[in-house]
Amino acid sequence: MVKNYLALDIGGTKILGAIISDKKILAKEKIKTTSSQDQEEVYGRIKNVITTLLKKVPNIDGIGIGIPGRVNEEGVITFSPNLPFENFHLKNKLQEDFGVTNIVIDNDVNVGMLGEQWIGAAAGHANVLGIFVGTGIGGAVIINNKLLRGAQSIAGEVGHMKLSFDGPKCNCGEKGCLEAYSSKIAMQRYMEEQGMKFDSILKSSVLKNGIAEQNKTIKDAIKKSANYLGEAIGSLVNCLDPDVVVLGGGVSTAIGEYMLKTIEPVANARALVKPNIKLSVLGDEAGLFGAVKLLLSDNK
Ligand SMILES: [Zn+2]
Repeated sequence: MVKNYLALDIGGTKILGAIISDKKILAKEKIKTTSSQDQEEVYGRIKNVITTLLKKVPNIDGIGIGIPGRVNEEGVITFSPNLPFENFHLKNKLQEDFGVTNIVIDNDVNVGMLGEQWIGAAAGHANVLGIFVGTGIGGAVIINNKLLRGAQSIAGEVGHMKLSFDGPKCNCGEKGCLEAYSSKIAMQRYMEEQGMKFDSILKSSVLKNGIAEQNKTIKDAIKKSANYLGEAIGSLVNCLDPDVVVLGGGVSTAIGEYMLKTIEPVANARALVKPNIKLSVLGDEAGLFGAVKLLLSDNK
């Protein structure tokens, strides 16, 4: 019998949910959220999305969740910089509130990469490096069809790999990380150094329009970021030798094609073998499909 799974992609500004059966989305729900300091309030929003989906498709065989942070084997969120959860027993709470025992939770980038490997840009590949470029930079590594999690669940954090020991300041408190060179925040910093002004965090649409309008400052900022990304990918390919490197995240979705023109030649020059670099094809559905793949996998 075909089974139905409930998938959640919980972010700092939105919660996406879906019920997926046989690799097809039966129902979908999206709520935008404002940031909150109250973990019970955020948990309430998560419950609302689940309740709404269950009204559409009542019978489910499990819940898979991607969350921006660190999750331990018991399903406790131990660290989540963009959400108020701290040592929050998400799995236990959901089991009690919905009576579903089959629940898996993992880092959102890991989950998104699983989705791309299942039915997206990395389908059919056993060794995958995923780099998600957005406000920050996240990463995920799949080796021999298994997610690399590491001893303390931080494996794949390529955003905090040092490209310079004395570079720009990074959100993590260190200097010269890839994230400080190639994230949206880094692009914004380059533009501000050239006199552009922003009221809030740079939107991906500004980057896209800047390319269309041939705005030199914006194009230069993107090229600079892409150049460092190419350097990083070259080094990572030498370390991991993946079948494919998948670029995902909001920035890649908006301007990935343009960035690849800079990334590919630099990565080719740095790597000892020619990297196979692809753009994500699932966009913001990667995390939903990945959450189902996580449920189906024996590599939870
Ligand atoms: Zn850092």
